[in-house]
Amino acid sequence: MMKEQVLKNTPMMQQYLDIKARHVDMILFFRLGDFYEMFMDDAREVSRLLNLTLTQRAGVPMCGIPYHAARNYIKRLLDEGKKIAICEQVEMTSDVKSLARREVVQIITPATVVDDDYLDALSSSYIVCLASVHAGSMPVAVTDISSGEFLLDVLEEDHLPRIRSLIAQYRPKEILVDEDEYFSHSNFAALVDEGQAMVTKLPHGYFSVHDGFTLLCGHLGLANLKAFGIPGDHPSLAAGGAAMRYLMDTARSSLTQITAFRLVTSGGLMQMDEATRRNLEIVVNSQDGTQKFSLFDAVDHTRTAGGTRLLKSWLSAPITDMTELDRRHGWIASFCDDVEELKRVRNELGTVLDAVRLSSRVAMNKAVPHDLVSIKQTISTFFRIVSEKHELYQMLLSYHVSDENLESLLTLMMTIGQAINEDSKGPFEEGAVIKDGYDAVLDELRGFRDHGTDILEEYLAKVKGETGITTLRLSYNKIIGHYLEVSKGQVDKVPANFYRKQTLVNAERYTTDELIACETRILRAVSDAEKRERHVYEAVMEDTRRNMEKILAVGKFLSELDVYQSHATLARERSYIRPEFVMTDVLHITEGRHPVVEKTLRAGTFVSNNLDMEENSGRFCLITGPNMAGKSTYLRQNALIVLLAQSGSFVPATSVRMGLVDRLYCRVGASDNLARGESTFLVEMQEAAHIIRTATPNSLVIMDEIGRGTSTQDGMSIACAIMRRLQEMRTKTLFATHYHELTMLDTSQIQLLTLEVAQKARKIIFMRKVIPGVANSSYGLHVAALAGLPVDVVRNAADFQKKHFADYNMSAPEQLDLFIMDDRQRSGYNDTAVLGGADDDESLPIREIMEELEDFSIDDSTPREALDFVASLKERL
Ligand code: ADP
Repeated sequence: MMKEQVLKNTPMMQQYLDIKARHVDMILFFRLGDFYEMFMDDAREVSRLLNLTLTQRAGVPMCGIPYHAARNYIKRLLDEGKKIAICEQVEMTSDVKSLARREVVQIITPATVVDDDYLDALSSSYIVCLASVHAGSMPVAVTDISSGEFLLDVLEEDHLPRIRSLIAQYRPKEILVDEDEYFSHSNFAALVDEGQAMVTKLPHGYFSVHDGFTLLCGHLGLANLKAFGIPGDHPSLAAGGAAMRYLMDTARSSLTQITAFRLVTSGGLMQMDEATRRNLEIVVNSQDGTQKFSLFDAVDHTRTAGGTRLLKSWLSAPITDMTELDRRHGWIASFCDDVEELKRVRNELGTVLDAVRLSSRVAMNKAVPHDLVSIKQTISTFFRIVSEKHELYQMLLSYHVSDENLESLLTLMMTIGQAINEDSKGPFEEGAVIKDGYDAVLDELRGFRDHGTDILEEYLAKVKGETGITTLRLSYNKIIGHYLEVSKGQVDKVPANFYRKQTLVNAERYTTDELIACETRILRAVSDAEKRERHVYEAVMEDTRRNMEKILAVGKFLSELDVYQSHATLARERSYIRPEFVMTDVLHITEGRHPVVEKTLRAGTFVSNNLDMEENSGRFCLITGPNMAGKSTYLRQNALIVLLAQSGSFVPATSVRMGLVDRLYCRVGASDNLARGESTFLVEMQEAAHIIRTATPNSLVIMDEIGRGTSTQDGMSIACAIMRRLQEMRTKTLFATHYHELTMLDTSQIQLLTLEVAQKARKIIFMRKVIPGVANSSYGLHVAALAGLPVDVVRNAADFQKKHFADYNMSAPEQLDLFIMDDRQRSGYNDTAVLGGADDDESLPIREIMEELEDFSIDDSTPREALDFVASLKERL
């Protein structure tokens, strides 16, 4: 109703509604003069989200944002998960009454922005595009337009866990889906929504292999994609094409930063599923989703934004290519051997800017003059780094940048250096961007422009002489331009060729033909100089754009170097060593440490531990031990060492010798997946099933307390069956359990390990040392008491346990039945715990003491009485 009224009312609203109808799922920023205006529902929503005033015009709700301040508002809307369509006046009419032509010139979404203001410099900005399943496989594309990366892949069978893993690996800002798939498969939709990224549903028609092929070839001007090893009928092109089309639709500018398409062959990667990534806390922790206490956080010593992103990407995608690992480790080793060079490179990298993102901005025509200066600085740092030790960097250089390209880069660096004013900030501004002395024509025009004042002064002197008007002044104002001013007293001396322009109280203002001619010449010089400057700037920009691939290569070189120096710095600071890869399927870790836990402890207090798995024996380790003894830490540290080694890092140990691991699994029992609407036990069993179906002897499986989510008997039976199967499969496994009964089965092929616990006087001390054997007690109730569970509750638990195990004729785990704690222990976990004697004689006085303690009324006693009471208790202990 209201719409119709408005429609009738103004042509501009008609134009707005037409454009809005084509951009329904986004906020339309409609340019009106110096403002972006939003109307109706958009206005209501934006005013609420950004706390802006909602106004009304002719009954239409509207709100506006000043054009020059839009960036800040756009950022906030992106953070709120909104898409924004920017609609500009693309053609102004000279006739004030007719309507300016308007068009949407850009669509801004969280993953398609390239401006620094909107991007998190330290994270990649991936878009994951998922096509619908066809002939059992799901085509996917992964792209980051802020760096130009474009990957294609096909997920075979078991799609859902694979999608989960993909999302966990890339942590996309945006997920593109085929709307048919999304609406028809609720599991798929739920999983995609879980990714915490903006979900964009694209029409089914976008996902065509044929169109994808044409689009991707067209983008690079190629007849086919053979150069990338992608056949014309490759299923992944369905996703690649859809992603490309979406990028073109949204960015609406050139995408020349995308210079290659890469087919991901999962063959080269160590496989990790989503649960493994989550449990190992590779890039974010599983508590609050921040980087704190993640593996990345513990090992990161990068100095550039590109290096940080590459390190995250390497940690998230360990590889199985021995040659490549050798190359990465070789670099770290060479930095470790040459500390002076390491320091020099660290210093130099400290000044490097984000070449990868800068070149994307150049490609998309979004660069400002200062970006060129940054590019120049980065190229110059690059040359400083490589020229001082050319032999050292030769190899890495040839990997990224050819000799020929080096020359073009040098020329570009000099061109920018000579042309662009270092101080220019913000968008292009005439007069401030191109340096004097770079372009002869510009210099001449500027000379004439600056000379303008001299010309005017000469003319003034001449007229003064001719007329004898001593008070004659030459000035300028916006309305009448340059004028000659004569005070009232001398007006009679004004000659006939003066035309009066303005009359003031005390003076008259005039102009002359000659003055107008001077003025025109000066103005033309100003405008010619401005035009020339823009032309020269465009030429430098074009030059830079032509070299974009090379700048990108420099960026990649610097990022890679940064990761190597980061690993070397870490290796030196925290005594990490180079792992050795062998062709046999063994895993020997000597004095291994947990990279994250070690960092949180006082230096030197982390207890290192070994792991030895041979090709034919000891491949299954069954680990028992009391809670808090260090089982989880040990399990994870071995997984993390393998992950670090295969991501190309050095590792926290004194020696590591290992065969390549093809798949890494890390399961922890009883994780809470309520958000997914699946019961904990179901998830646990699904995960176990997945491992059993996919693991190989070359895999490493970490299972921590599996089978916890169900009754003891079910849990134990399942744990036992899984254990047996993994053993048969010869998969390298570390299996921590609180089911001590498992150690009583046939363990001839099993390494039984436990965590050493010393018992001293009335205390247990966790030694954190892994030793062969079986824990003689799980101390479960003891730790419960330590954690502050009331004494009577713990005692009830103990009684129940005795009775329960007697009923089922099972051996009760040996529990220490003393429930006494001192304040220090009550306040939190500690490495030591007060022990009760296991025999009744010793526990008797303790029970009495407990009872007396319970009866003692603190409120009714004096401090003196309380102290005496404590003293008497102490004596009896
Ligand atoms: P569990 O899995 O047996 O319950 P955790 O592995 O969670 O025990 O370890 C409990 C705590 O003990 C850790 O938070 C850590 O502070 C400490 N810890 C574990 N292993 C070590 C070690 N090797 N050296 C020093 N402290 C350790």
